[in-house]
Amino acid sequence: MLEVKKFVFSPVEENTYVVYNESLDCCIIDPGCYFSNERNELKDFIDGLSLQPKYLLNTHCHLDHVFGEKFVHETYNLIPYIHKNEKEMLELAPLAAIRWNLPFDGYKGEVNYLTEGDAVRLGDDTLKVIYAPGHSPGHICFYCEAQKFILSGDVLFRQSIGRTDLPGGDFETLITNIREKLFVLPNDVKVYSGHGLETTIGFEKKNNPFLVEV
Ligand SMILES: [Zn+2]
Ligand SMILES: [Zn+2]
Repeated sequence: MLEVKKFVFSPVEENTYVVYNESLDCCIIDPGCYFSNERNELKDFIDGLSLQPKYLLNTHCHLDHVFGEKFVHETYNLIPYIHKNEKEMLELAPLAAIRWNLPFDGYKGEVNYLTEGDAVRLGDDTLKVIYAPGHSPGHICFYCEAQKFILSGDVLFRQSIGRTDLPGGDFETLITNIREKLFVLPNDVKVYSGHGLETTIGFEKKNNPFLVEV
């Protein structure tokens, strides 16, 4: 049984998630901790529950989702898992961050790749990889079918969607992927987004201004 802990980090207010189970295994998803107190908060939570970090996962590699990548790698000796189409994003993130006035020390080591249909296993629990580009070229979501929740990154927000004006973004692709990959999930699937509040698939089908059928 998975528990989902959310942190809101950095001036960008990005949601970082720690997903863990009763065997105390955990994965860290989109570590956006920017300031040292945020890095401490993440570490204190993990250490406080005696969690064993098994995976460092990224829905995508925009700067706000990788501020803490190097820290998590160094602290827990984890190699990031990303989609191959995000490799360039990861490499360019520190450069982009200078333009945003949010300089940080980027992760430069090796990476592991995830793709559509892969399963991330944490003991008896599974997160299924759903490939849903459009906000960024290699964006993936992590879906727990058994417990009906999805970590949607910046694909789908409560009554909004990810921006598509950044490199590799494409509005039509994003909308199509939300409809064909996310809106096919049960209505009561809870959505944990990369920014903002939780929502559900059913609520967004009815209330998301970008997706409501007229
Ligand atoms: Zn993003
Ligand atoms: Zn973001």
